[in-house]
Amino acid sequence: MKRPSGRGRVWRRGDDGFDKAVLATSFNARDPGVRPELLVEANDAGDVQGALQLARENLWQVSIVSGGHSWAQNHIRDGGLLLSMARFNQITIDPVTRIALVGPGCWGLDLDNALRKHGLFFPIAHAPDVAMGGFLLQGGFGWGSRELGLATESLIGIDLVLADGRQVHASATENADLFWAARGSGPGFFAVVVRYHLKLHPRKKVTALKMQVFRQRHLEQVFRWADDIGSAVPQSIELQILITPKALGIFQPGIEVIVPVLADSWAEAREAVRFISDSPIRKLASFTTPLVPMNTSLMSRAANITHFPPDVRWCTDNIWTDAPIDDLLPGLRAIAATMPPAPSHSLWLNWHPSQQRPDMAFSLEANRYLAVYGEWTRGEDDDRYANWATERMAAMQAHALGIQLADENLGKRPALFMKDENLARLDTVRDKYDPQALFRSWMARPDR
Ligand SMILES: Cc1cc2nc3c(=O)[nH]c(=O)nc-3n(C[C@H](O)[C@H](O)[C@H](O)COP(=O)(O)OP(=O)(O)OC[C@H]3O[C@@H](n4cnc5c(N)ncnc54)[C@H](O)[C@@H]3O)c2cc1C
Repeated sequence: MKRPSGRGRVWRRGDDGFDKAVLATSFNARDPGVRPELLVEANDAGDVQGALQLARENLWQVSIVSGGHSWAQNHIRDGGLLLSMARFNQITIDPVTRIALVGPGCWGLDLDNALRKHGLFFPIAHAPDVAMGGFLLQGGFGWGSRELGLATESLIGIDLVLADGRQVHASATENADLFWAARGSGPGFFAVVVRYHLKLHPRKKVTALKMQVFRQRHLEQVFRWADDIGSAVPQSIELQILITPKALGIFQPGIEVIVPVLADSWAEAREAVRFISDSPIRKLASFTTPLVPMNTSLMSRAANITHFPPDVRWCTDNIWTDAPIDDLLPGLRAIAATMPPAPSHSLWLNWHPSQQRPDMAFSLEANRYLAVYGEWTRGEDDDRYANWATERMAAMQAHALGIQLADENLGKRPALFMKDENLARLDTVRDKYDPQALFRSWMARPDR
């Protein structure tokens, strides 16, 4: 993605450059084939209020974009008004109170770099240009989230513009129902976030990474081992296992075991990754790297270079699962056998949450997270690849507890993303604050 430059403007359908401006809001280079009537690039809260008034007068529904990292391009809908919040990218840090004020257009990378100077930390996303706007609303699985919790759990307040144009603050004690709804409703939220208030954490002294790479013929052994080790993986570690057609270092279909660790000392970091060094399958690995020093910005940048290049087309889908590994292996083998070319990949995340979450809309997770990311560059290949992710996850649906909104694909495969009672409660809060349905909601709801 490119950072926005200059002052934002209003684009009407039919204006020269309108299509380009709309498509440039999206990380996914696919053209969804639909367009809004109007694109408003807001510069300040007054522009947001003006855009909402215009939408009300024209009976247009409003969709919102901040960093444009919705894989499903949730914000590009047919008709209505598209409101871009990308220019709301300010960051203010108070190192004494350990609170940051950030705009929804602020990139994770920029926040991480700013916080490092103060020895402070926030669990930003794994790709540098994911913006705080959508990231915090859906939950936010960031670096260090197994230990620190979802990013949205470190949210202490939100400044919002409501459907009727009022500016309000929401927190645990003020407009608490809105605060509850914002933490987990993701692309179904029904107000415009203009600023987040974040609780910051001390930065760990050591950030490091260890990797182990296997050839694809060892798929079954690797995933049986990952399943066995499960909850024993220390919370300071986020064990990610990627199936890829071109694994790092071996340049052929393989499995990358990626182990980022955040620790207070090198001794603690080495101890935390011991389960890799001593693993019973280590001899099957093509190679194992030493534990190398890193920082979170560098790891995010590296993720973009190796796995999330810009200007390409994507299809994505996911499941949360607690199913036995024997039930999952056929699906994992099918993912490997049918995957589009690199850098397409799948992610198995050893999540195993250890903590009780606060009461918030976010309410569905499991011990394992499995997501598939299909990537291709040419429009001619759309028919060939566009349904790959949907088909792979539909095939494993019987073993799923639901999905995560971070990698949602609701328009193509509706699925449960929060507890039924939370979805019902969310509808009540929406009816109170957005009774005319000014804001677009999820592309589809769970079909049950
Ligand atoms: C390459 C890549 C890597 C990713 N890595 C991670 C990761 O590590 N962890 C993780 O949890 N997720 C990750 N995601 C998913 C990402 O967090 C979500 O797609 C998130 O919604 C992106 O936020 P955004 O503002 O960039 O996207 P947008 O597309 O701008 O926003 C997504 C939706 O959020 C809503 N929204 C956005 N801004 C506002 C606002 N200001 N007010 C009200 N509603 C708003 C809108 O409904 C919008 O359609 C990744 C996505 C990509 C493409």
